[in-house]
Amino acid sequence: MSIDLEIARAATLAPIAQIAEKAGIPVDALEPYGKYKAKIGLDFVQQIRHDRPIGKLVLVTGINPTPAGEGKTTTTVGLGDALNLIGKKAMICLREPSLGPCFGVKGGAAGGGHAQVVPMEDINLHFTGDFHAITAANNLLAAMIDNHIYWGNSLGIDARRITWRRAIDMNDRALRGIVGSMGGVANGFPREDGFDIVVASEVMAAFCLAYDLADLQTRLGRIIVASTRDGKPVTAADLKADGAMAVLLKDALAPNLVQTLAGSPALVHGGPFANIAHGCNSVMATTLGLHLSDVVVTEAGFGADLGAEKFLDIKCRLAGLAPDACVIVATIRALKMHGGVAKADLGREDVGAVRRGIANLARHVGNIRKFGLPPIVALNRFTADTEAEIAAVQQAMAALGTEAILCTHWSDGAQGTVALAHAVMQRLDAGEANFQPLYPDAMPLADKIRAIAQGIYRAADVALPDAVAAKLARFEAQGFGHVPVCIAKTQYSFSADPTALGAPEGHVLPIRDVRLSAGAGFVVAICGDVMTMPGLPRVPAAETIRLDAEGRIEGLF
Ligand code: ADP
Ligand code: MG
Repeated sequence: MSIDLEIARAATLAPIAQIAEKAGIPVDALEPYGKYKAKIGLDFVQQIRHDRPIGKLVLVTGINPTPAGEGKTTTTVGLGDALNLIGKKAMICLREPSLGPCFGVKGGAAGGGHAQVVPMEDINLHFTGDFHAITAANNLLAAMIDNHIYWGNSLGIDARRITWRRAIDMNDRALRGIVGSMGGVANGFPREDGFDIVVASEVMAAFCLAYDLADLQTRLGRIIVASTRDGKPVTAADLKADGAMAVLLKDALAPNLVQTLAGSPALVHGGPFANIAHGCNSVMATTLGLHLSDVVVTEAGFGADLGAEKFLDIKCRLAGLAPDACVIVATIRALKMHGGVAKADLGREDVGAVRRGIANLARHVGNIRKFGLPPIVALNRFTADTEAEIAAVQQAMAALGTEAILCTHWSDGAQGTVALAHAVMQRLDAGEANFQPLYPDAMPLADKIRAIAQGIYRAADVALPDAVAAKLARFEAQGFGHVPVCIAKTQYSFSADPTALGAPEGHVLPIRDVRLSAGAGFVVAICGDVMTMPGLPRVPAAETIRLDAEGRIEGLF
């Protein structure tokens, strides 16, 4: 059995009402989903948000990762647990895992080792059904598009220009491109279509950025699904789909409360992709957390060039949040990779490679400062790491005026992150943060893309084909010039080339296409290929997941 599942299963969980009480949530605001999960009623969320927020907001992000992940979720949980251990009132806010990676290669997303949110099996699988509700809302809209065309197409939708795709929470490459409506007159007009994984649906992004139900319904209505023959956008509101979509999402919008292995409260809610979307948990959960606790610790997907930038420039901007500190998770193995070591040799001590790889970490440290936030490095310890390698990182960070705190929460639980918790509290108490987004709302869209490319990725420039520039101009003419941009590029490099590790500079960021996510409220700039429907690997994790004789789950990690 996997270590994560073994540890999670050995834990004794507290009834969810007890966790709620600890978090300051009254029992009558709880909508329990079994013994250990509950939704927090929207009325309570609305009511508590009338008061001034009390909490500080700490983002956990990372260096450009290896495919296995460097431990951002694990560190978010570990830091939240350690803050509670030293007497602070901390809330952890995480994304909900998608089924795709659970059955594919990466595994679940409930943390790891002794820093996990539980019940791990539930959280990783169907949880409270939010993703199924989002899938249903996405597919209701798809069905209403084809139905509208079937019954005469009074809006004049150009069937070749339908951009809305169907969704399912599964890695299934067979569905990337399909032909629908086959089989004759009664089934409509055959057309090319396709599926995205549900975390890539714009419904997911809109859901996670919505401030309340009314805002959600407005965002859903703004979603552009197609255009007419003369290029006029057709929205979900034009199809009168927004109301029914919001109805399907009404219960899902309430944040989910669970606990960590150490009994800390955690809100696990929403889970947008970090490429074509902004990659962090819901505004509902984060704002609730800030009204309930001294410190909210939250995670953004991918490395800091994507995850932190989007958290800061999209989520914080749109939700009016001002974060107070930023933890950057690094591992020795990823630093070695950035220093040129091949994957197979990562287990061997190589201080020189670590030193070279620090260029990647150092750039993220500098980037976080550009947003006015104090960076703190969490060095997530793996068993193969040596003292000399660790010392090299600590010296380099001290030279940059910050510190790298060795963290052993994966093996030791909250005790392993107490030093990090103290370092974070020191920055929070000193009030060092002076948050500002990277660019103002009023900047033209093309300049926003350039500001990120040059300011964060250290590109020399962006390559913006005329057709793409024309599309940006059209978005501006349609009244969407003020929105932030969401860059979709590889998570492995500062550039658009996944093999350019370390700290490349002077590269040109190629913008292949741009899309308006009018409902979510941002423009997506696509660099290279973006995968909105992953496939399964040759040997998917699903092959080893099964039920044992007692009906318990095995093989989930
Ligand atoms: P991220 O959020 O950055 O993608 P996760 O926190 O989900 O990364 O961790 C990815 C995987 O690595 C998990 O399976 C977790 O159990 C494992 N992991 C994290 N930290 C350690 C560690 N220090 N030692 C061993 N395994 C770890
Ligand atoms: Mg994670």
